Amino acid sequence: MSSEPGISPRGTLFVVSAPSGTGKTTLCKRIVDIFPNLRQSVSFTTRAMRPGERDGVDYFFVSPQTFADMVAAKAFAEWAEVHGNRYGTAIKTLEDWRNAGCDVLLDIDIQGAAQLRKTYDQGVFVFILPPDLVELRRRLEGRGTDAPEVIERRIANARREIPECVHYDYLIVNDDFEQALNRLTSIITAEGCRTARMLPTLAKTFDLFR
Ligand code: 5GP
Repeated sequence: MSSEPGISPRGTLFVVSAPSGTGKTTLCKRIVDIFPNLRQSVSFTTRAMRPGERDGVDYFFVSPQTFADMVAAKAFAEWAEVHGNRYGTAIKTLEDWRNAGCDVLLDIDIQGAAQLRKTYDQGVFVFILPPDLVELRRRLEGRGTDAPEVIERRIANARREIPECVHYDYLIVNDDFEQALNRLTSIITAEGCRTARMLPTLAKTFDLFR
């Protein structure tokens, strides 16, 4: 993105992180339906495919060797090891969408977000929080998908991840899902109206830099 005349606008990166159980995945799924110009980045991962997941849609599922080759080839904008598996965002995925003028939504962990903050400093970083840890535990137990020790690990991870929220641009407490979705919608709308993001287009229309 640039405010100089003659330079076309490029899409914005919206980076969303959250502890497990905060509703981030559902929020991300809903938000891309609201903004037709917003595309969700599909990450590469070494973890096994879960029932119902599709290769190339939920993730690109690759072998540890393929992932290591991509790291060596510097193909990733960021990558991290999360819960014993590797996850990464390909530079090509981001650049293809941005060059097409689309905004890109990335659902990535705090380590990946920290890497991107250094390289894509015009990205917008959003952290989703549970109302508190008691409610987080209640939600994780309510899902009925995780064994007690897995729930304890997720709570311990949340305690470690939540302090990282201070490095993000926006914080959304997901106390009520629709309200959280409204907040995320407002953030994306407001960011799109920033002068620096509007100028490249408006400059031509109104010949602003004559
Ligand atoms: P899951 O395996 O449950 O789909 O995702 C586990 C965690 O990995 C989530 O916190 C998710 O945000 C994170 N994640 C997914 N894709 C990426 C990625 O490309 N990079 C990083 N750093 N984290 C990712």
